[in-house]
Amino acid sequence: MLVILKTNCTTAQKKAIEDYIFSCNGQIVEAPGKTRNVLGIVGIDHTVDREVIASYPGVDQVVPITQPYKLAGRDLHKEDTQMTIPGKKGASMTVGKGSLGIIAGPCTVESRQQIIETAYAVKEAGATALRGGAFKPRTNPYSFRGLKSKGLEYLAEAREETGLPIVTEVLSVEDLPQVAEIADVVQIGTRNMQNYPLLTAAGRQSKPVLLKRGLAATLDEFLLAAEYIMVEGNRRVILCERGIRTFEGEVRFTLALAAVPLLREKTHLPVIVDPSHGTGKSSIVRPMCRAAIAAGADGLLVEVHPNPEIARIDGAQSITCSEFSTIMKEVSAIADCLGRTKIH
Ligand code: PEP
Ligand code: MN
Repeated sequence: MLVILKTNCTTAQKKAIEDYIFSCNGQIVEAPGKTRNVLGIVGIDHTVDREVIASYPGVDQVVPITQPYKLAGRDLHKEDTQMTIPGKKGASMTVGKGSLGIIAGPCTVESRQQIIETAYAVKEAGATALRGGAFKPRTNPYSFRGLKSKGLEYLAEAREETGLPIVTEVLSVEDLPQVAEIADVVQIGTRNMQNYPLLTAAGRQSKPVLLKRGLAATLDEFLLAAEYIMVEGNRRVILCERGIRTFEGEVRFTLALAAVPLLREKTHLPVIVDPSHGTGKSSIVRPMCRAAIAAGADGLLVEVHPNPEIARIDGAQSITCSEFSTIMKEVSAIADCLGRTKIH
């Protein structure tokens, strides 16, 4: 519900309105307008009564929030959200509102040397954050599931060396404290997009969350998953389109690029694209990176490996450091021509 205050609403009147909302377990999101102040009422199971609140002095109008995702949607938050995520040595990633966040690195951390070598290479090419899974969700339980805490340790070392902020995945509520301690951005993967206890726990900790679209999720389900995180207090969510399951057998997943402008209409949150999982094919990652930025994405998540042929996971979709460098040049040129020049 949106409570539009009269232009002459006094501080005491506003306080009485707020007290009523809080007494009904409502949370308030202030949305200052050009001429009038608006209070957005959110919160799980609040009992604010529309007629009661409309009767308070100082209230001009009460209107419903039409989008079900009240915090992720644009009703309460018209402007694009921008986030700056610091790493070390003065390096940081800024994503959203014209700034492109470029997250690159291997699917999984394999060794200290592999992650540090990749970190230097992607940084040199212009990446703004380093990715690498330490806890890996695998379809086949006999596959390599990541180096776990050792992997986190190597990621932290790569950040010490290069300064790049770290993006790494969390698989369970139980692992969240140790992942969030090292990660600068906690990734929730496609398989966990509807793991509501994990979303809730991620919303109760302070690190930004990179939320990937479920492989069979609608955009509304995706945004409601983001809402699960936000309603717990963590408003720093980055959305990632990573392809959906379709009948098409040529690619691992179908990269749904129309999701980018659609999401940008519906939400103020940054939207990035993962053409690696979104295609499963290293030979077409490059054109899909270009297309993603041209479609208005706020950044990319790309799997880069110093030697994709021997990658322990996802070698077929991983590109080399030199291919990544070429992509960065092309993507910067496209961003430039669209007036979205800042990559930092
Ligand atoms: C990943 O980013 O390595 C990953 C497992 O992604 P997704 O959850 O999109 O499959
Ligand atoms: Mn992968």
